[in-house]
Amino acid sequence: MIRVWILAEQFDGRVADISFELLARALKLNHGEVGVLLIGPPLAESELRRLNNAGATLTAAYESVTLTHFRIEPHMHCFVEFVGEYQPEIILAGATPYGRTLMPYAAMRLHTGLTADCTELAIEPDTGLLLQTRPAIGGNIMATIKCPVHRPQMATVRPHSTVPARPGEGVVDGGRIVRIAADRLPESGMKIAGFEPFAGQLNLSDAKRVVVVGRGIKKAENLPMIFELAEALGAAVGASREVVDRGWLGYQHQIGLSGKTVSPEFYLGIGVSGAIQHLAGMQNAGRIMAVNKDPEAGIFKVADFGLVGDLFEIVPELTRQLRQGGASWLNTAK
Ligand SMILES: Cc1cc2nc3c(=O)[nH]c(=O)nc-3n(C[C@H](O)[C@H](O)[C@H](O)COP(=O)(O)OP(=O)(O)OC[C@H]3O[C@@H](n4cnc5c(N)ncnc54)[C@H](O)[C@@H]3O)c2cc1C
Repeated sequence: MIRVWILAEQFDGRVADISFELLARALKLNHGEVGVLLIGPPLAESELRRLNNAGATLTAAYESVTLTHFRIEPHMHCFVEFVGEYQPEIILAGATPYGRTLMPYAAMRLHTGLTADCTELAIEPDTGLLLQTRPAIGGNIMATIKCPVHRPQMATVRPHSTVPARPGEGVVDGGRIVRIAADRLPESGMKIAGFEPFAGQLNLSDAKRVVVVGRGIKKAENLPMIFELAEALGAAVGASREVVDRGWLGYQHQIGLSGKTVSPEFYLGIGVSGAIQHLAGMQNAGRIMAVNKDPEAGIFKVADFGLVGDLFEIVPELTRQLRQGGASWLNTAK
C-alpha cells in the first residue's frame, strides 16, 4: 500500500506543473514511495510517464472525456472511488482553483479534515502523522495542524512554493501506470458554455519575470514608470502589501505571506524593503535583483544583484537600456 499520494492536475493534454511541485513535496515526506491520482481525459502514455520519471511509484489515472473540464460531481465521484480502492493515508493537492474546490468537498464527503494553503509539511517521527503548517490569525503565527483520527489526512499546498520534481529524480524502477475507465459518472448540474483562455495582463503567478514595486514609489501617480519597465522587460507587475493597502494597485498584484507566492526566473524589486512577510512569497525566485536607496535594506540579503540609489533615477535608465537592447545588467545579475 502506498501511504502518500498527490492529486495531480492536467490541462490541454498536459500534466500541469503544480503536479511536479506536489510530487517533490510528497517524495520528501515518504522517501520515494509516492502515488499520483490524476482525474481527467485520457492523456498520452508519454505524458503520464513524465510523472513516473519524476519519481511517482504508481500513477492511477481515472479517465473519461466527460472529465475534460472540471465539474465537481464527476471529479468527486472518481476521488471517492479512488480513496475506497487505494486507501491513501495522506493526499496532497495544489492550492489552485481545482484543489481549493475539490478538496473541501472531498473532506466533507469522506468525513475527514483538510488544511488549506500549507507552507510546510513534515511527518511526526513518533506517530507518523502529517504535520501541516500554515500561517494563521492573519499571518501572525504559524500553526501546525494534525489529523490524528480521520483518514485520509489531506492538505493543499501553495503553487510555486516548492521546486518541482524533475525527470530522473527519485525514480522507483520506472514506476507503474494504471488507467481506470471512469464510467457511470454522475450528471453535473453545471453545463460548460464554452472555454476562452484568459487574454489579459501577464499572469503574475506563472510569469517568468516579475517587476515588484514597493512603498518607495511614494504615490500611485508614479506607477507608470514601473509598468513601462515591466513592459520593456516582458515582465508582470507585482507589489508589496504596503502598495496594495494604500490602494495604489489591486490585491491580485500582492506578493508575500498574505498575497501570492511566485517563483519567476527573474525578480526585480523596486523600492521594496524585503520584510520577512514579503520574502515568504518570492524567495524561490531564480535570480533576484533589487533597487533601494538604503544599502541596509533586507532585500539585499536575498538579492543576487543590487543597485543602491534613487529609484526615480534608476528605473527610467533601466527602461531606456532595455529598449535600446543594451541591458547587460540583466545577464550580470546571475
Ligand atoms: C500578518 C502580516 C502579513 C503580511 N503580508 C505581507 C505580504 O503578503 N506581502 C508584503 O509585501 N508584505 C506583507 N506584510 C507587510 C510587511 O511586514 C511589510 O510592511 C511590507 O512588505 C513592506 O512593504 P515595502 O517594502 O513596500 O515598504 P517599506 O518597508 O516601507 O519599504 C520601502 C522601501 O523603499 C525604499 N525607498 C524609499 N524611497 C526610495 C527611493 N526613492 N529609491 C529607492 N528606494 C527607496 C526604502 O529604503 C525602503 O526600503 C505583512 C505583514 C503582516 C503583519
